[in-house]
Amino acid sequence: MGEHGRRWLFADQLGEHFLDSGDQPVLLVEARSALRRRRYHRQKAHLVLSALRHRAAELGERALFLRTATFAEALGRAGGPVTVCGPTSHAADAFVRSRPEVTVLPSRGFTSTAEEFSTWAGSRGGHRLLMEDFYRDARRRLDVLMDGDDPAGGRWNLDAENREPPPPGGLDVPGPWTAEEDEIDERVRHDLDRWERDGEVSFVGRDGPRTFPATAAEARDALRSFVGERLPAFGPHQDAMLADDPFMAHSMLSPAVNLGLLDPMTCVRAAEAAYRAGHAPLASVEGYVRQLIGWRDYIWHLYWYFGEDYRDLNRLSARVAPPAWFEELDADAVEARCLSWALAQVRDTGFTHHIIRLMVLGNFALQRGYDPARLTEWFHRCFVDGYDWVMVPNVVGMSQHADGGMLATKPYAAGGAYINRMSDFCGSCRYRPSRRTGEDACPFTAGYWWFFARNQEWLAANPRTARGVYGMRRLDDLDEVCAQEAARGDAPP
Ligand SMILES: Cc1cc2nc3c(=O)[nH]c(=O)nc-3n(C[C@H](O)[C@H](O)[C@H](O)COP(=O)(O)OP(=O)(O)OC[C@H]3O[C@@H](n4cnc5c(N)ncnc54)[C@H](O)[C@@H]3O)c2cc1C
Ligand code: SF4
Repeated sequence: MGEHGRRWLFADQLGEHFLDSGDQPVLLVEARSALRRRRYHRQKAHLVLSALRHRAAELGERALFLRTATFAEALGRAGGPVTVCGPTSHAADAFVRSRPEVTVLPSRGFTSTAEEFSTWAGSRGGHRLLMEDFYRDARRRLDVLMDGDDPAGGRWNLDAENREPPPPGGLDVPGPWTAEEDEIDERVRHDLDRWERDGEVSFVGRDGPRTFPATAAEARDALRSFVGERLPAFGPHQDAMLADDPFMAHSMLSPAVNLGLLDPMTCVRAAEAAYRAGHAPLASVEGYVRQLIGWRDYIWHLYWYFGEDYRDLNRLSARVAPPAWFEELDADAVEARCLSWALAQVRDTGFTHHIIRLMVLGNFALQRGYDPARLTEWFHRCFVDGYDWVMVPNVVGMSQHADGGMLATKPYAAGGAYINRMSDFCGSCRYRPSRRTGEDACPFTAGYWWFFARNQEWLAANPRTARGVYGMRRLDDLDEVCAQEAARGDAPP
């Protein structure tokens, strides 16, 4: 078995790239404590258990697969030394490092190592750690979309071409890959039903057929289908939202990549090959590659770099507890069409694409002053691709600006005009995106100014939001807007 024993694979380390050889013995643990800890979305619990059990079935006798109450119990039963690749949360990292029988190796499943990130961060000489700089460094280091020393096509960033509103009539792309359930899924469903009936665990959201990959083979199929059929259309409408097309040309691969079923570099190389073969335009391929070797790794490294206390930052002093209708994904209680649609998507699938997370759900929470730590917890529980490392920086930093600008240069707050431009939600909404007072005042438009009014000192000091404060001070009905939104309280809009 080797001097360090088995390789313990956490449930988000399931691919071959977490092993050193094709015959390495493995330890897999299904710990009930992990499910009891939070009220997860039902489909998230299903996906993680299904993936773990599929991996155990694939490995057969090579894997010691233990179902226990806790991880500590499993280590006791494994009864020998194990190695583990660096886990993905502060809590799991502290746990494995506290166990004498566990040797902790460097993390895997990302495109830059911790050393590469610290070398890059050190080279900034105390300046801001900008995603764009990190991304360019990664492009060079990994030799992705490079023509010699220059970026392919002569430009590093094609974002300007990737912010188109939705095309009239929608995107003409085939739907995403979806899974076919098997007897392992049937067993998982049976177990989850039983545990829920016995009161052992409880879930949020609705059950539904598994749509995301649970094995590496399924994940490779999903990647092939995305690169072959949807990647060409990915770029231009990346930020658009359409009521009849919840997934547009997004890859929907984050659940598979975060479970460790797909190595992100495999996705990047496949996308680059499509560009080199003339099957996909540079704007789409650059847009996709930027998300993976740029945003995803940047978020991962900042999670560790900012440390444990980052999750509790609350620089805008947002203290409102998300109301029950929001926590419980009660889309039917909400009349605001964009928000109701977004909550229904989460309720029914445990997933929405990025711009819905940022500009509908996150934007609403920011405007209403939801407590960032509670909101992080909500996103973590409700999204099938949510893990501590990815939720904390995305929610606390990117979405809620609770870090005061360590990650993003300005808060992502926007009114109804933005949502109207980038979606087709407003046409049949009972509110009007241009109205900020009265019966049909859009809660996003009014909420935007209310947010500015509450945080004006802070926002005036930021050159990127100072103009908004200036605009707010010229509104002659600001007091009315603020009184109206304060009176709305935590009622569903
Ligand atoms: C409030 C909020 C919460 C989020 N929570 C999560 C989360 O729990 N898990 C998660 O993986 N992503 C999260 N994201 C980032 C992003 O929204 C999702 O990665 C993306 O929507 C997944 O869908 P996709 O695979 O179709 O992505 P695509 O649009 O196809 O993008 C390609 C890939 O890039 C990666 N990526 C892009 N942006 C980010 C980012 N900001 N952080 C990390 N990876 C990124 C993902 O792996 C994704 O699969 C969050 C963003 C926000 C604003
Ligand atoms: S009018 Fe306002 S609430 Fe209604 S869909 Fe548009 S942005 Fe959303």
